[in-house]
Amino acid sequence: MAILSSITDHSSLPDNRGEERLVGSSLLKEEIKLSKQDSLRPKSFEEFLGQSELKKVLGISVKAALNRGEALDHLMLYGPPGLGKTTMALVIAEELGVKARVTSAPALERPRDIVGLLINMQPRELIFVDEIHRLNRISQELLYPAMEDRRLDLTVGKGASSRMRQIDIPPFTLVGATTKPAALSSPMRDRFGITQRLDFYNHVDLENIIKRSANLINLSITEEASHQLAKRSRGTPRIANRLLRRVRDFAEVYSSSKLIDVKVLNDTLDLYRVDNRGLDATDRSYLGLLVNDYGGGPVGLETLAAALGEDSTTLENVVEPYLMQIGFLQRTARGRVVTPAAEKHYLLTSPTKIHK
Ligand code: ADP
Repeated sequence: MAILSSITDHSSLPDNRGEERLVGSSLLKEEIKLSKQDSLRPKSFEEFLGQSELKKVLGISVKAALNRGEALDHLMLYGPPGLGKTTMALVIAEELGVKARVTSAPALERPRDIVGLLINMQPRELIFVDEIHRLNRISQELLYPAMEDRRLDLTVGKGASSRMRQIDIPPFTLVGATTKPAALSSPMRDRFGITQRLDFYNHVDLENIIKRSANLINLSITEEASHQLAKRSRGTPRIANRLLRRVRDFAEVYSSSKLIDVKVLNDTLDLYRVDNRGLDATDRSYLGLLVNDYGGGPVGLETLAAALGEDSTTLENVVEPYLMQIGFLQRTARGRVVTPAAEKHYLLTSPTKIHK
């Protein structure tokens, strides 16, 4: 399988203040280039670790499509950033033995972008569109007949002399990815034959991902260190791989041993102020404000945002989801409330003792 074009535009992904978080699940600027030739990306269902339900469902559809010699049904993958949506699309193309074109909604703003993409396709090719919820109306309307009837409806000419021209296109598979399934228009949603969600990974799966990645970059890591790193990776392979690279850098500069053990791991993460649950300084300021200044809540989102000098959308979409996922935060009708577990964690993990 070849990736024909890699024009994914991730410029919108890092958080609004331009500050990049080591434990943020979106791509960091330095990773955007890397992601195009990501050596850690699994290339088959077998290499894709975790998400067993998803692999089972997609494995059946891929096999059936191969048996019939047809293109795979259009597929929608949704879930938070960094969980493997792009990776899964590329794995599927590999398993189907077809080419994959990788692009994203912001790169398909003009009708000619979509036409250019669809018109040069070979039969059964796979097109991956990241952030598909951001496609504008014109682009969506061009896609509908293409997805349903393998047809492009083009308007040729202008004014009174304009006419509609229809062009047949080969069968293809559109894989759409989104972090915001609710933002997708319903006609668009209806055109996907398969819709699947990617979940956060458990510690065991993340540990296996870390061991596989360490192996690929020729890094020796102890069982305990990979276990501890998995616990700090916020259920997200992208974060696990990123932290692993930082630990490798640290070990190369500061450690005489080539082996990554818990000490090297803790020293690195102390430096970046990532604690034993994967929380960073932003998370701790958020928890600290709630615990110290508001007795644990409830507090309104806007109040928290103003006190932290943060944008409320960033808090809502970037900071809070992981805190809720690990049971540290509740969103109630009266505002945000921290749980006793969060309070305990916050008090036990001041920045000077974050690994105790
Ligand atoms: P998304 O498209 O959901 O934002 P990606 O597919 O770009 O996420 O995955 C982020 C990184 O995590 C990639 O570098 C990939 O190598 C790694 N990765 C994702 N899922 C897995 C997995 N199941 N097993 C191993 N590595 C994975």
